[in-house]
Amino acid sequence: MMRKEIFIRYERCMGCHSCELACAVSHTAARDLFGAVLGGERPQKRLYVDQVGRVKAPAVCRQCEDAPCVAVCMTGAMHSREDGVNVVDLPQCIGCWMCAMACPFGAVGRGEGKAIKCDRECLDEEGVPACVRACPTGALVFKTVEEFEAERRLEAIASLK
Ligand code: SF4
Ligand code: SF4
Repeated sequence: MMRKEIFIRYERCMGCHSCELACAVSHTAARDLFGAVLGGERPQKRLYVDQVGRVKAPAVCRQCEDAPCVAVCMTGAMHSREDGVNVVDLPQCIGCWMCAMACPFGAVGRGEGKAIKCDRECLDEEGVPACVRACPTGALVFKTVEEFEAERRLEAIASLK
């Protein structure tokens, strides 16, 4: 099966931060906000919505095929899983932030002294990531590269009308 990626439709983001909240909550044991708070958990997001001037956009890990964050990790903590998803093995992480310096998208965060990033362990029963599911405007989409580009081509043609 072709691997799906999270693509950003920058023009659609309104900066509501719903994706960040959904990401954080999906990584708690309770997998819901109230359950997490009641259980004393501190939900941590793995993507970041920022604003520059009037432009608002989420920064989400691209799960690079030849990932710079993996290449620079000295301990092997940042590694590529069998499914191609790049993840951190926390016990091996020494918090040197080489991965954060190497990532061109600012997709590595800090979680209790260790690197924290998207691990795609937030998929719902239909296989859709929590951030994508939560976005009310469709600014985040989960498709194969082929599907996304086909959509782009049709839009380009439609814009000629
Ligand atoms: S954290 Fe950055 S460098 Fe690493 S896989 Fe994600 S986007 Fe690529
Ligand atoms: S949920 Fe969608 S619209 Fe809201 S900040 Fe995230 S990407 Fe932007």
